[in-house]
Formats: sequence, structure tokens, C-alpha cells
Amino acid sequence: MSTPGELNATHDPRLSSWVASANAPGVDFPVQNLPFAAFRPAGSGQNFRAGVAIGDQVLDLAALHGLAPFAGPAAQALAACAHPSLNALMALGPELAGALRAALSGALRSDAMAAARLRPLLLPQAAAEYRVAADVGDYTDFYASIHHATAVGRLFRPDSPLLPNYKWLPVAYHGRASSVRVSGYDFPRPRGQLMPPGAARPELLPTRKLDYELEVGVFVGRGNVQGSRVLLAEAEQHVFGLCLLNDWSARDVQAWEYQPLGPFLAKNFATTVSPWVVTLEALAPFRVPWTRPASEPPPLAYLHDEASRQAGAIDIQLEVRLDTARMRAAGMPPQRLSRSTFRDSWWTVAQMITHHTVNGCNLNPGDLLGSGTQSGPLPAQAGSLLELTAGGRQAIALADGESRTFLADGDRVTLHGWCEREGYARVGFGEAAGTVLPALP
Ligand code: MN
Repeated sequence: MSTPGELNATHDPRLSSWVASANAPGVDFPVQNLPFAAFRPAGSGQNFRAGVAIGDQVLDLAALHGLAPFAGPAAQALAACAHPSLNALMALGPELAGALRAALSGALRSDAMAAARLRPLLLPQAAAEYRVAADVGDYTDFYASIHHATAVGRLFRPDSPLLPNYKWLPVAYHGRASSVRVSGYDFPRPRGQLMPPGAARPELLPTRKLDYELEVGVFVGRGNVQGSRVLLAEAEQHVFGLCLLNDWSARDVQAWEYQPLGPFLAKNFATTVSPWVVTLEALAPFRVPWTRPASEPPPLAYLHDEASRQAGAIDIQLEVRLDTARMRAAGMPPQRLSRSTFRDSWWTVAQMITHHTVNGCNLNPGDLLGSGTQSGPLPAQAGSLLELTAGGRQAIALADGESRTFLADGDRVTLHGWCEREGYARVGFGEAAGTVLPALP
């Protein structure tokens, strides 16, 4: 049995696919990736079902199940793919998901005997529509980038940017699952209570400080029983995979409402995730040591072990792009606002899982965790406008002559993520996009 961090035959960079688009340089979805999504033909009204991405196509796994091409654990996992969400597949755990991945890798590689039988089960991704991969029962958003926490803390509390608990526990708040949406969800500018500086009373207005947050999403696989806890050494056995996540945020609402209980309406009007979930197994080649400066104390023992130290972090390149209504009308491409990497995160995915359950809290298959805004140490690596514009004081110049402090109506924000390492195939996440519409009357 392979564990998520180990390399196996599915990672072999020499593999190619009989789906030609999967072999083009720089693609997000080569045969070494094989991310899962819930999809259906666009506009069909059919049931959603599981699919796996290969090049610019999606392979219908419910239809594949109908052909009964696999045996044993792979067949058992494939049977779970006929459901309209991935919860059943996620619940099976990494051994069965890994067996399915190995079988799909074999069926999609260039020399596969099954190519002729499988070709009719492909649909161009451009002709598909998606839903959130899982029925998300609970959504928790962490705050795992110390660079983000410090920069934001400086704006809200110049005297003590980093609160004393930060370096000891993965800080989080419980978010709202009902408003998690898949990429392509366009939403009206939210309203909220704003307290203008120096005013005597707040007003109910459309937010003036709408922002994005560049985050990694984590879909929980196998759950844990309430009253039990997940030890660090086992934590990754409870992770199905990762996606991109945009935690849209109304900063003016947040500033007025967040104390003493944390984020509420500033965050829960919309959260955007990418349709494709990249399994932890696919990310194995991109594991890197989890390090902290020698001057920093190690975490408490339950959040710290040698395996984490050696390979607890994942080097996922993250990028935010913006295009405005005017840029689109002029045919201009989106403009990159920042780039960072998940390897700079102060806390790892395993530490988040372990801490979340240390009190006996139960995680369920399909639960969603957000990593918190992933900012790097440099100003150009800031994962939100709040940081990039120093709280709205320094506008960003756009290529068409416009400028932004926070998002304007018509702005579209697109998150991208990918992993690259010499000697391995690139593994991409696709995108998570959303557009800001004018506030409702
Ligand atoms: Mn967030």
C-alpha cells in the first residue's frame, strides 16, 4: 500500500496518454495528475457524476463504471463515482482512491488496450459544467500564512500585529458551507454594516472594500468519529485532495464586525472553489521539508514529527489574475496581481487536520478546509488586495490605465495553481474564477 507522500508508477514522468492534449507541454492535466471533479454535459440537466481530467477532456467515471473495466479495490472505488458528488469516493480513504488512480493511469496511458472503448466516454472540458466536488457539510477557514497574518495584523492592530497564540496553534474560524460555490459563480456586491471613521453610528451600505483571498482548499476524505482525534502521523490519510479557494471578503464589514468573535457576514456571502480536486497522491513529487526559522519555537509535540519536518509542506505555485469589464471589452488578457507558494505556509495540511480534531471534533468526508490567504514574505507575494494596497492606501495600476484599491463591479478574479519540479510532470489545478456584479437594490 502506498501512502500519499510516496512516489509510485503513476508519477513516472515518461508516461504519456492516448488523449493527445494531455501530452502538450505546460498542460495542467497530464496523465500524472488525474484530478477528480463532479460534472455533467453543460446545459444537459443530467445528474452530476464524477469525472477525471485528462488533457482538455473529462472522462466520465459513471459511464466507465458501466463498462466494469476494473476489478478489486479499483472497481469498488469506481462504483462510488456514479454518485452526483464525490463524498462517497472521498469517504473510501486513500488506499481505494489510490487503487482507482492506478487503474485510471493504466487505462489512459499511451499503450492502454482500453483506448478504443474509453474514447466515447470523453467530453471536452469546455463542454462540461461543474458543481462543488463534494456536498460540503462543514467549512473551516484557517489562517496559516504568517506573512498574511502579520501584514493584516499590522493594518488592524499596528501595536501587536501577531497575537500570542499564532505561532502555537493553527488559528481558524468556522465558515459557512451553504455559500461555497464552484468556479464561475458571479455574485452581487454584498451589503453590510459599515462604520465610517469618525462616524457616530454605522450605516447599511454595499461594501466599498471588496477583496479576494488566495487560498488552498482541502477536501477531507475519510472522517473521524466524534470523541476521537487524528494523530499527526495519520492526518494525511484523512485528506482526499486539494483545490483552489477564494475566500471573498468585505474588509469594511470585517473591520466593524469581527471583534470579539471573528469573521461573520464579511466572509459568508460567497466562497469560490475550483472544480478539480488534485489528490494528495498526485502531489507527492512536490513535497518539501516543512521548516521554520531556528529562532522560532517548535510546535507542541502533537503538531510536530520527523515525517512532517522532512516532507510536510507542498510546493504549490499560486497566482491571482484580475480582469476588469473594460479590459475584457478591449480584448486584453487578465493581469497578474501576485504570486506565492503554499510551501511558505506556517502550518501544514496535516497540522490543520490534527489540530481541528484534537478536542474530539469530528470531520466528515467532503468537509472543506481553507488554508487561509497564502502570502509570501515579499510584497509581490501578497494574497489579498488588503495587503497589496496597504489597506487601500496604495492603488494598483492596471495595464489599461485603470487602478484599483479594492474590487470594482465587473471585476473578475481568477486563481491559478500548479506544481513544477525538474524531472517530473507538471501538475495543475485549473482555475477558480468569479465576477463581482453590481449590488442589488
Ligand atoms: Mn480566508
